[in-house]
Amino acid sequence: MAKSIIAPRIKGFICTTAHPAGCASHVREQIAHVQKQKPIGGIRNVLIIGASTGYGLASRISAAFGGHANTVGIYFERPAQGDRTASAGWYNTVAFNEELRRSCPGVKAININGDAFSDAIKAQTVAAIKNSLGTVDLVIYSLASPRRTHPKTGQIFNSVLKPTSKAFLGKTVNTDRGIVHEVIIDPATEEEISATVAVMGGEDWQLWMEALREGGVLAPGICTVAYSYIGPELTWPIYKDGTIGRAKEDLDRATQEIRKRLKSINGQAFISVNKAVITQASSAIPVVPLYISLLFKVMKEMLLHEGCIEQMCRLFLEFYAGKAMIDETNRIRMDNWELRKDVQAAVAAAWPALTTENLRTETDYDAYVAGFLKLFGFGFPDVDYARPVETELEIDDENG
Ligand code: NAD
Repeated sequence: MAKSIIAPRIKGFICTTAHPAGCASHVREQIAHVQKQKPIGGIRNVLIIGASTGYGLASRISAAFGGHANTVGIYFERPAQGDRTASAGWYNTVAFNEELRRSCPGVKAININGDAFSDAIKAQTVAAIKNSLGTVDLVIYSLASPRRTHPKTGQIFNSVLKPTSKAFLGKTVNTDRGIVHEVIIDPATEEEISATVAVMGGEDWQLWMEALREGGVLAPGICTVAYSYIGPELTWPIYKDGTIGRAKEDLDRATQEIRKRLKSINGQAFISVNKAVITQASSAIPVVPLYISLLFKVMKEMLLHEGCIEQMCRLFLEFYAGKAMIDETNRIRMDNWELRKDVQAAVAAAWPALTTENLRTETDYDAYVAGFLKLFGFGFPDVDYARPVETELEIDDENG
């Protein structure tokens, strides 16, 4: 048992500490949002791949607390060790389990910590579903990872966040120091592009769906959804037209393949294009934190603001009621508010004039920084940060 006082320790776009009580507050805040909405119908057993932070955690909370669905959560998180705290996703999962047991008795939660890209975790998941749920009727694919070890060849791929055709010159913010500056990012090599596609593209999603299908754990009418992003033109050189965009394009190919493979059980595969939100993954992408700071200001002023939980709750409520916006290529468009003409016109008008000096008045930068710290359990008014807390918490599987 190890009790200590925990403060944020930030290195670039990563915080290397996490506060267990603060992460629990963050999870409770998300649950409270879900419980204020209409109940989510139509889902019984949901597998979430990437379930411990960001969009995956918000999906899990929506399904479990909004739809009383049993969930299987896959994630790759670090327990506390010596004087190192556990990762935020670890503490989030501890809190998710505790809250579920308290307020939704009988709703199951199965937790699997390990490398989702591996065959072993896929096999473990199939066995766990067979043992406790029989089948799943929804599979959410919400992984964000900088690397992948290929399960068949053992090759390690590292993704990069770079443009693909020409060097990118653009504006970004150094979130350590609150300084707006220009960045030049050289284009990726062909090898870097294909490595990024190998990590963040659709192959692993396909392998998951195949393993689940072969394992006989997909319910007839199964639906699977993978998360993607498009964003506005100002982020395209680094996102949509960049290496990560190439990987996301590969999800389109994977969707078609998965649909074919699921036809015999009446299954469906979708991409949900979500809006830009503050997560560990998005804070690593150049330009995006500055864009999010501005976007949040604009969307708050237009009363359209959404974070992870608001987006995911809306996805579940609209999609399962047949009301989600589906585009001509069959993608679910949860970014429909972000890409509204008036929202993007306001963003485009303010963007060129952003500087270090006006960052705090012209954008919601302070809220961005606060939102980033919240990801690691810092900044919650109900937490006494001066008090030592137990860091070595176990994820119990009593709900399994
Ligand atoms: P995140 O960093 O908050 O979450 C990533 C999740 O993946 C965590 O649960 C983590 O434990 C898990 N994970 C990472 N590597 C793993 C591995 N090898 N094995 C098992 N689990 C692993 O990221 P996020 O921003 O919520 O992103 C999730 C998805 O949503 C991504 O596909 C992303 O592109 C998409 N998306 C994000 C945004 C955004 O603004 N954040 C916008 C639209 C779409």
